[in-house]
Amino acid sequence: MTDDMYDISILGCGPAGLSAAVNAFIRNKRIIVLGMEVCSPPLHKAQKINNYLGFYGINGQELLDKFLEHARAMQIAIRHSKVELITINEDGTFNLLVDGEVLNSRSIIIATGIPYKPTLPREEAYLGKGLGYCATCDGPIYRDKDVIIVANDAEGEAEAQYMAEICRKVYYLSLYKNIGKLDSRIEMIRDKPSEIMGNGCVKGLLLKSGRVIEAEGLFVLGGETAPDRVIPGLEIVENHILVDRDQKTNLPGVFAAGDCTGKPYQVAKSVGEGQVAGLNASQYAGSRN
Ligand SMILES: Cc1cc2nc3c(=O)[nH]c(=O)nc-3n(C[C@H](O)[C@H](O)[C@H](O)COP(=O)(O)OP(=O)(O)OC[C@H]3O[C@@H](n4cnc5c(N)ncnc54)[C@H](O)[C@@H]3O)c2cc1C
Repeated sequence: MTDDMYDISILGCGPAGLSAAVNAFIRNKRIIVLGMEVCSPPLHKAQKINNYLGFYGINGQELLDKFLEHARAMQIAIRHSKVELITINEDGTFNLLVDGEVLNSRSIIIATGIPYKPTLPREEAYLGKGLGYCATCDGPIYRDKDVIIVANDAEGEAEAQYMAEICRKVYYLSLYKNIGKLDSRIEMIRDKPSEIMGNGCVKGLLLKSGRVIEAEGLFVLGGETAPDRVIPGLEIVENHILVDRDQKTNLPGVFAAGDCTGKPYQVAKSVGEGQVAGLNASQYAGSRN
């Protein structure tokens, strides 16, 4: 085992992820917490939380600030990055792809919030059949071919630049405003996506205007990431990660907590499940040392 191995990698810095972090940290585990800049988008939006014990009438952002203060007071650092992909090694440890860097971990806690809403209809039917979520990962497959990038945020721009270097043609359809300056080889599409074209494999994209763009590859970038896209093989039932009472998933060493495991979508449930996941992941990681 290498020195740069984390005991537990926690995806999400909302109530579930932070609760898991606090409990694992108390058990002396080497942890990393990853999440976006706004650690809990739903809590940030909540005007009033009247049912979290001890904080009657608190504003959602204030409660989130208290959770973050708690983590900071314990010197728990949060890395504001998204985990793109997790792969499982033969020895049962995990590799996490984060900002192009690979992190190593003995166990994983997924606390990524409510289930993913796909950007395009029937995305799942084309996954791996011309549709991908990481252009820089799959790029070489599309060398000298035409690809379409549908980007939910500006992070797609760097991937489009990269694809412009290797593909015959790159079409860029942004679903956000304030697009930066792109390579002249990239064709901007000022339209809305309607439907993926192709019988079994991606052949192109039908736009709202009725125009069809033909391409062999389609990348949907940014936005939310479904947990089973992050860790292939994770069992999902009715859009939620299947867990037992120990917050274990079907994959050994992978735990899940919070809204991603099912209703009720509530802070108290998230904090409770986070604690159970934190304790059980600590035990698991300890047994693999
Ligand atoms: C308007 C509104 C009002 C609400 N009111 C209440 C209320 O009164 N009482 C109550 O109990 N609950 C309320 N809720 C619900 C509550 O906010 C959620 O149940 C709670 O925030 C869920 O916590 P979570 O940690 O599971 O997920 P979230 O808080 O959604 O956190 C998910 C985290 O995962 C991160 N993430 C996602 N994908 C990745 C990835 N690939 N890599 C790394 N990080 C990732 C995100 O950046 C985020 O940090 C309300 C929600 C809303 C929207």
